[in-house]
Amino acid sequence: MDSDSPTEPFVSVVIPLYNEGSHVSALLSDLKTALEETGCQFDVILVDDGSRDDTWERIKAEARTLSNLRAVRLSRNFGKELALCAGLERARGDAVIVMDGDGQHPPSLLPVMIEKWRSSGIDIVQAVKAKRGRESLASKLGALFFYVILNKLSGFELKGASDFKLMNRKAADTWLAMRERNVFFRGMTAWMGFNTLQIPFEVAARRGGKSGWSYFKRWKLAFIGITTFSSLPLHLVTFVGVIFFIFAVGLGIQTLYLKLAGRAFTGFATVILLELIIGSLLMISLGIIGEYLARIYEEVKGRPRYIVTESIDLAEGKTRLLPSGNGGARPANHD
Ligand code: UDP
Ligand code: MG
Repeated sequence: MDSDSPTEPFVSVVIPLYNEGSHVSALLSDLKTALEETGCQFDVILVDDGSRDDTWERIKAEARTLSNLRAVRLSRNFGKELALCAGLERARGDAVIVMDGDGQHPPSLLPVMIEKWRSSGIDIVQAVKAKRGRESLASKLGALFFYVILNKLSGFELKGASDFKLMNRKAADTWLAMRERNVFFRGMTAWMGFNTLQIPFEVAARRGGKSGWSYFKRWKLAFIGITTFSSLPLHLVTFVGVIFFIFAVGLGIQTLYLKLAGRAFTGFATVILLELIIGSLLMISLGIIGEYLARIYEEVKGRPRYIVTESIDLAEGKTRLLPSGNGGARPANHD
């Protein structure tokens, strides 16, 4: 199935899977068709992100027939970003393609991406959403709001960006050298600033199952995205504090003057209003500082990014049980 030509590049495809058991085999057969068309050698690295369905059993069954399939199973649901880390750390290809496993990222685009990479020698080929697939209005508005904020805060244009991209070895290695625990894949890729070629694609409908992203997970990723990419919210706290101080000095002088003139304010309305405004502002400011503190806390703990319980490696041709916790190890090939 692999091309025998030594000049053909080797491509690794990394796919995180969370409860995608119903369509793993359809996904792999589409991938195989698309990749064989390119004539490249390839392997597929599936990361089972602690699925609760039969995803891992399906992967094991597929591995019996597909020799260039590698897979790892994480000990629990670590979230897509960390599942991606697990896959990227195992990808050995000259180019690494990252895509979703729910059919929303069409495998038919892979030959186009590989062709663009080979003909232009570009570092990253990024598929951008020409049209977002069927999504609820709340989800669309949420994404728009998040990208507008992130764009204003960090200066990176991520609207339409997806986690469907090809990275050459240089870009993949550079990405892997970033050892943070709070991972935001598309933001970090944009941050690297390598030459990027964009190709539009239409988000297909999910093949089956349902989105593994709860509102809570989306919020968490949004907070990680904003706090890891900009310290502006912290400066904003200082800025609002200064504005309020100026306001306080003015109001203080006026109040004192009125008091001395015997015309002091009566009633509690003003006091209550001020208390409420200042109280809320203090809480919000503490919350903002807390978000940054949480990020620092997670980083300094230095725990592994994910924990692998089982893996399937084509080199060994069998499933093996791994000692837990290698997600924090530095890649061996960096020195
Ligand atoms: N995914 C994952 N872990 C999670 C949630 C999702 O590995 O906690 C995978 C999922 O199996 C899919 C990809 O990430 O391959 C995109 O997820 P999903 O389709 O649920 O996200 P959406 O398309 O709704 O943004
Ligand atoms: Mg999806």
